[in-house]
Parts: sequence; C-alpha cells; structure tokens
Amino acid sequence: MRILFLGAPGVGKGTQAERVGEAMGIPHISTGEMFRRHVGSRTSLGLRVAEILAQGDLVPDVLTVEMMLERLRDPDTINGYILDGFPRNLAQVHALDGAIGDYALDAVVVLEASNEVLKERMLARGRADDTEESVSNRLDVYERETAPLIHLYRERGLVVSVDGVGDVEKITASIQTALAGHF
Ligand code: AMP
Repeated sequence: MRILFLGAPGVGKGTQAERVGEAMGIPHISTGEMFRRHVGSRTSLGLRVAEILAQGDLVPDVLTVEMMLERLRDPDTINGYILDGFPRNLAQVHALDGAIGDYALDAVVVLEASNEVLKERMLARGRADDTEESVSNRLDVYERETAPLIHLYRERGLVVSVDGVGDVEKITASIQTALAGHF
C-alpha cells in the first residue's frame, strides 16, 4: 500500500502518518525528518539546508527529489510506505510519477484544520523552525505550492479527507475507517 499524507504544517501529519504506518506495518517516510536528521548530524546536505528549514522555505527540488528517490529504493519499501511531506509541489509530483508511475499511489489522506489551530499547535510544539516568522511563511508556502496538489490528486480519485482536530487516537481511527471505505 502506498499512501500519501497531505495537509498544512502543524496539522498532525507526522504523528498520524507514523501511527497509521505502524498499524499497517509499512515505513513512514518523512522528508522533513530526513532533513532534520541531516542538519543534526551536520552532513554536507544538512549544512546546505539548515538555513532553508529555519526560514520555512522549501529545499530545492533537485536535493529533495534525489534524497527521496534514493530512500524509495530501500528494501523496506517493498510492501508500500506512507509518504509525509513529499511531494510538496507540482515538480515533485512529476518526479514521483516518473519514479513509481502516475497511478502508483493508492490513496492520499488530506488532514484538515483551521489556520488558527495550525498556528497555535506549531507555536506550542517548539520545534527549531516553529518561530512566528517561519510558521507564517510555511503556511503561505503550503497554500501556494502544496494545497493545489489536493485538486490534482482528487482528479485521480485518490483523496480521502479527514478532520485533523481532536483526540490523536480518534483521528487515527477516523483515518483507518476512511481508508477502509476507500479501498
Ligand atoms: P516538515 O517536517 O514536513 O514540516 O518539513 C520541515 C521542513 O523541511 C520544511 O519547512 C522544508 O523546509 C523542508 N522540507 C520537507 N519536505 C520538503 C519537500 N518535499 N520539499 C522541499 N522542502 C521540504
């Protein structure tokens, strides 16, 4: 099963993608986490992207796509995976389509929450890039670059929308129910 989680920053994608992946026995692949690990261990990629992450801008597609396509060649992806944070713009959609095929994803889970909830959650989370400036930039980047992908995946008949506000366990259960209804 290949599932993509889409949604604004702060909506709880990472938490839910991790939980659903664990329940399904498939890896949760988060580009944000991969970049943060590179920054933390000061690899050459980490040094190149640290400032970009801090500002909440998108890392250039060449770097992101190369890192991701390499990850998708790992043997643990053989039975599927949950993608979290990639693709984030149209060019990345095309790169993913080229690598796995236009109709290779089985579902796209879209988590929803209002901008007020998103801001509140991010500022409470306290991650290094959760400053007011970066948060508002990431919400803008999401609206401009990533939100249009929902329309594209809806046209492919893949979108399953789930309310991302409330109890973590209940949201996981809603996602699982919505996916079961989709397949
Ligand atoms: P996330 O953990 O998904 O919120 O991602 C954290 C940060 O990593 C983002 O604000 C971007 O700077 C970078 N990032 C993560 N995924 C991508 C992507 N697909 N393309 C470009 N930059 C990304």
